Formats: sequence, structure tokens, C-alpha cells
Amino acid sequence: MTISLKNILSIFCFMACTLFYGQEMTQRLTNNDNYRLVADWPRLSSDSTMGQPSGLGVDSQQNLIIFHRAGATSGSDPSILISRNTILKLDTKTGRVLNAWGSNLFCWPHGLNVDRDDNIWVTDVGLHQVFKFAPNGTLLMKLGIAGEPGSDSSHFNQPTDVAVAMDGSFYVADGYGNSRIVKFSASGKFLFQWGRKGNGRGQFQIPHSVDIDGDGNVIVADRENARVQKFDTKGNFLEEWRNPSGGAVYAIKVVFANHSLFAVDYLIKNDTLISGSDIIQFRPGFHVQKQFGRIGSYDGPVCRYHDIELDNDQNIYVADLLHNRVQKFQHITLDPD
Ligand code: ZN
Repeated sequence: MTISLKNILSIFCFMACTLFYGQEMTQRLTNNDNYRLVADWPRLSSDSTMGQPSGLGVDSQQNLIIFHRAGATSGSDPSILISRNTILKLDTKTGRVLNAWGSNLFCWPHGLNVDRDDNIWVTDVGLHQVFKFAPNGTLLMKLGIAGEPGSDSSHFNQPTDVAVAMDGSFYVADGYGNSRIVKFSASGKFLFQWGRKGNGRGQFQIPHSVDIDGDGNVIVADRENARVQKFDTKGNFLEEWRNPSGGAVYAIKVVFANHSLFAVDYLIKNDTLISGSDIIQFRPGFHVQKQFGRIGSYDGPVCRYHDIELDNDQNIYVADLLHNRVQKFQHITLDPD
């Protein structure tokens, strides 16, 4: 194996750059894809300051939709709604806010998904509800009973995420309180569910993020079991990936264009030492293609990535709960050595 001067410089630059909070960071990866942290992105005005960002989506115009907690510190009282805007639309190129809405609607924002028609789906783990909004913010559908947790066909218990299939049917990950995936018709009719608490196949310890691959299979980030599980459209188990680091898997994102799956994890060693998050890219079959973020002894800022999104240019966006920010990693293709 030969190590080129460019490789050595890339590695040195990465190690040096991670010493400085907020500085541009570049990590040399194992193939010709590379990602560079974009500095000073996004550019938020004082009235759109972000609270904990919990959910991300990208619309057909390649704008980033962010669901955030807007300064709220607890979602334990469902009667207290966040008075500030909780949903931001950002121009991914400039990082500037294009639109903000979502005041007095939510208690404890969690998952967000943008469907093929740019409708925005969100879950609120404080209200135990799932919402579907038109792109302009008009409410189209609401499932679950506000402030009333439950496990039947009309209740949720802290639902975490939504994924919408090509035919408009959708899956809800439910959630912190229940340990199930629930499928609904496009009109919101309960169809069926699967899963229960545990660590066997088809069991969950916080199903925290859900997405659908090109075959219609359902991918679930089984957070506290530190794994990803894949199911068919009926909920039959197909395969799984267990995180060798033991880090909890917070979110997954299917990228159709290059048959990739992305995940973010969060590792606390020995239940005490916060090691931070990694971004992981898989090829089909859960083969890890690349992994970056948390490195070795990690001198850079420790992040807690709660969600991940990608745009059509393969740029990565991650929602960092620890620093109330969204980071953009710009995709760059290097010349082959
Ligand atoms: Zn969460």
C-alpha cells in the first residue's frame, strides 16, 4: 500500500482542523467521495434562532425543512405549546431562511418527513400525535389524541417518525412509549402494526426513525438496540445491521439515486463518556461504505446527531441536539489518486 503526500496532508489537515470548534473540517475517506463541513452555515437571523433541531427533510426544490424545539426545555406538559415558530425552510445553498411557521402547534417536536408532493409530516412526542401539512403549512391530517398516550389504533405513545410510501400509505414509528411500527392507508386509516419491546427480530427498544427503500421495504433505526432493521411491506423481518461500536442508531435515510443508506449514531462509552456521533453510509446489504464524525480520541466538538438528510447533490445535513444547530457537509468528489 502506498500513501500519497495528498493523503498525508488530508489526514493532517483533518486532525488539525478538528481541534478548532467551528472551523472547516475535511476528512479523507476510503473512496473518491469526500465531505467538507461548511462553515457559517446556516445564516440565521436573530428571530429565527434554532432550538434543539429534531427532524429534517428536503423538498423538491432542494430546500431544507427543519423541525426544532425553539427554546422549549421540556415537553412533559402537553397543554403548553411552543409559542415561537418551530418549522424553518432554508435555502440549502445560501443557508438563509425562506419561511418560518409552526407556532402554538407543538409541545415537543420530534420527527419530520417531506413526501413526494412536498407535504410535511411531523410527530410530536409530547402531544402523542402525527401531523400532515401542505407545503404552505395548512393542516391536512392529524392522528392520535392530544395529550392522551395509548397503544390502540387511534392513539400513539410518543411517536418518533413517519415514512410515506409511493402509494401514499405511510408508516409511523411509535415510539418511546410503544415499540411498534404502524401502517396507515393514504387517507389515514389504520391498516396493521408490528413489533413489541425487546431485542429479538422485529422487536424494538425505541424505534426512532423510519424510511422506505426503492423496493418499498421499511428500514427502522432501532435506537437503543444499536441496530438497523429492514422489513418488507407487511412487516416481515428481512435483515439487520448491528452497530459494532454499540452506539445507539438515531436516524436513517435512504438515498435512491445511488442506492445508499445513511445513518447517524450516538455513542456513550461505559454509560458515562460521551463520545459523540458518526455519519455512516451503507451500500446494499448493510455494507459500510464510509463512516466519519467521531474519530479516535476526538478532539473536536462532540455532536449528538438526531436526524440526517441529503439533497440531490449528496450534500449531508445533520441535526445536532447538543449545539442547537444543523450542520451541512458538502459533497466533493476528489480526483482518483
Ligand atoms: Zn429522539
